[in-house]
Amino acid sequence: MVPLPARRALLAAALGPAGRRRLPRHHGNRRLHPLPPRAVPLSPGPMSPLPTAPAATAARPFSGAGDQEEAEGASRATAMLRHLLLKLRATGPVTVAEYMREALTNPGQGYYTRRGGIGESGDFVTSPEISQVFGELIGIWYVSEWIATGKPKAFQLVELGPGRGTLTDDILRVFNQLASLLSKCDVSVHLVEVSPKLSEIQALMLTEGKVQSIPEDKSAYMKGVSKTGIPISWYRDIQDVPPGYSFYLAHEFFDALPIHKFQKTEKGWREVLVDIDPDVPDQLRFVLSPSSTPATENFIEPEERRDHVEVCPEAGVIIQRLACRIEKDGGAALVADYGHDGTKTDTFRGFRNHKLHDVLKAPGTADLTADVDFSYLRKMTQGRTATLGPIKQREFLKNMGIDLRLQVLLQNSRDTATREQLLHSYDMLMNPKKMGDRFNFFALLPHHRLADPDKKHKPESKSPLPPVAGFGELLLK
Ligand code: SAH
Repeated sequence: MVPLPARRALLAAALGPAGRRRLPRHHGNRRLHPLPPRAVPLSPGPMSPLPTAPAATAARPFSGAGDQEEAEGASRATAMLRHLLLKLRATGPVTVAEYMREALTNPGQGYYTRRGGIGESGDFVTSPEISQVFGELIGIWYVSEWIATGKPKAFQLVELGPGRGTLTDDILRVFNQLASLLSKCDVSVHLVEVSPKLSEIQALMLTEGKVQSIPEDKSAYMKGVSKTGIPISWYRDIQDVPPGYSFYLAHEFFDALPIHKFQKTEKGWREVLVDIDPDVPDQLRFVLSPSSTPATENFIEPEERRDHVEVCPEAGVIIQRLACRIEKDGGAALVADYGHDGTKTDTFRGFRNHKLHDVLKAPGTADLTADVDFSYLRKMTQGRTATLGPIKQREFLKNMGIDLRLQVLLQNSRDTATREQLLHSYDMLMNPKKMGDRFNFFALLPHHRLADPDKKHKPESKSPLPPVAGFGELLLK
């Protein structure tokens, strides 16, 4: 944390006394509903059917302007379902991870590839879409880390799964406001995005569409320059991003990665698979593997006490890559998502039109997601970096000074409607029953950022390392 008044000064410099305020964004209600319980009974028999997700809340009826989109959705679902049925007939049941990967990122019919429904008119809304203050405070977090580590000459901002590009846009506005501070620093932006549709939306948001496609053999597939003059490159994989001192950001990214699901039975652990329901034409169902699968052997810890476990190996691989890069080149990673510390069981769920949606129905037309297991992420860093958190979103934002920012915005807003919007979006982000307690912040930092190696020899040193912003209480001195 940059101590106040230094941090207050950073806030004021970044946002201005009035803060360059845009109208507060509108919002829907992503993933905020308390989940109905999903009983998954022990079903030890070979390929025993498991009940599917609870009956989906009725999808929006075909009507008015939604007709065409709904109709397209239905035919896409048929295409994706047909693809999956063919695959299942040919190879037998697939893991939940394989099903999720196909449903979300299949290059032809995947949900993110084709629909990518973030925002009020889509299927879910995320914190950056609710209020610009969210991204501004994250921008300040990076600048404060950059200052704390001695203002390196260059840094890369690397966002994984940038959605509509809103969060990076808000961060870049902060960087622009702090141009005098960052003027000697060479900043570049690197976006890791698999969805062609969303990368187009990001390009419009960040560069007003002024981008260039790059030939297939190059690591980046698109390049452009931000409205504020910062170079931006797009990649399909974190491994393609050039090495160097980097600030990584993953907001609601890890929850979209494919999970394996396991169920404890009298015969031991079994993997949950997706199969064709023999009783209902063209319908999918969950079954249990008749014997243990390679994933069961690899992912279930001998000391596991839960009877249902979800594991996301892809999240493990990506966090390992981030940890290696930070260990080698420096920087930091901020991960924000809903999740738990290795305690939850069945969290796999679908969202469509802002409502819970049966995960096995109309694959490709709904967002599928599972809570992030932060204890697994921590374990997968293998001690290469230090970790902070997870801490609740409302604590992180409070520590970052969201209340000060709200006060300034309220003081400077002239009309009641804007003030009400500001208070409403603050409530969405901070209320423990809404996003305040459901979302968590987790950080990776080089070990030396937290423990000064010289400190042992120089305990009298007058310049201790500043605490990391957001993860400690804001002290109003
Ligand atoms: N961070 C944004 C969007 C979250 S939705 C926000 O908070 O608003 C998840 C994002 O991750 C989408 O942009 C989706 O296309 C992207 N995504 C999903 N799986 C991915 C993968 N394997 N690699 C890269 N991006 C992926």
